Amino acid sequence: MNFNSFMPPQRTLMGPGPSDVSARVLSALARPTIGHLDPAFVGMMDEIKVLLQKAFITKNAFTIALSAPGSAGMEACFVNLVTAEDTVVVCRNGVFGGRMIENVERLGAKCIIVDSPWGRAVEAEKLEAVLKKHPEAKFVAFVHAETSTGALSDAETLCKIAKAYDCLTIVDAVTSLGGVELRVDDWQIDAVYSGSQKCLSCVPGISPVSFSEKAVEVIKNRSTPVPSWFLDQSLVMNYWSGEGKRSYHHTAPVNSLYALHEALLILNNEGLSQSWQRHKTQHEQLALGLEQLGLKFVVPENERLPQLNTVYIPDGVDDAKVRSYLLNEYNLEIGAGLGAFAGKAWRIGLMGYAARSENVALCLVALKSAIAKFST
Ligand SMILES: *Cc1c(COP(=O)(O)O)cnc(C)c1O
Repeated sequence: MNFNSFMPPQRTLMGPGPSDVSARVLSALARPTIGHLDPAFVGMMDEIKVLLQKAFITKNAFTIALSAPGSAGMEACFVNLVTAEDTVVVCRNGVFGGRMIENVERLGAKCIIVDSPWGRAVEAEKLEAVLKKHPEAKFVAFVHAETSTGALSDAETLCKIAKAYDCLTIVDAVTSLGGVELRVDDWQIDAVYSGSQKCLSCVPGISPVSFSEKAVEVIKNRSTPVPSWFLDQSLVMNYWSGEGKRSYHHTAPVNSLYALHEALLILNNEGLSQSWQRHKTQHEQLALGLEQLGLKFVVPENERLPQLNTVYIPDGVDDAKVRSYLLNEYNLEIGAGLGAFAGKAWRIGLMGYAARSENVALCLVALKSAIAKFST
């Protein structure tokens, strides 16, 4: 058998992630690999911490990038904070809320589920009613931007309710960071995790996380060790604590962190609110065009994520054929439906560098042609 170098096709990525990675971020990735304890590298990691604090809008000292994808960020929050004695309220309105529940249950903790319909925001009144009935609850967890459905929840209100009942808050911001307003300190979020490959438009495999002082205290006061060695944040923190104080924990993905640094610089140069606005503007352009094609949104207008547009597949249109036509004829990737929406909806991402006019135009032209070709 003859093997050759792998040359990926040039795609436009408009699915639920990974999103388009700019040439600038890709070129950062190709810079020379240096040692992960090299003072030059430690200095760059320190800058990443500061840039992440700015992106999350937090002063939390414990703000780092985990060497693993968003799912590991989720797991890190739960394994570090939650013990078998705890009661956790998890709000579920899609696939990722379901994964939070699995995390809680695997830790042997008590999980109280607040279900809201898929395709809608988490219902604040339901959360409040559950917290009223369960004064023993210690944590409230929810997904800010449900990528499985395209729904945006009101994180500020949900955290306010959680705080009124003395709970710590755990928030999934994998798809929200950089794409919509997110204020970790102002909104009183105690543990938050994100991903590199959604609105940061970096390569996949890194998870920014941030823990409040209260959350750090909970971790420090645990009576049992964190059940995961790799994700134990008391060990990871020492690895991220700067030159001279640094102790070896694992080898950071050196080049991927160059890419993250570059992606965060791009976000910082653009400005957070400018980035939120760009996602909104591009979403409005896309929504207009999709509606002109006769496509109907799954999520009501005021609960929609600009960076993830979920539309119903029209009757008589072949889902798989449309998506492979887009890929083969237009080098365009859009997302299939997930969970309850498998086979029923498309998920069109406008994340980070992908939220550009040329992508919107390409998507609309390509979809129009595909729908005409594959409907009966
Ligand atoms: C993508 C995603 C994750 C998981 O991130 P991975 O990097 O794929 O592990 C978790 N939560 C949400 C809301 C996501 O969109």
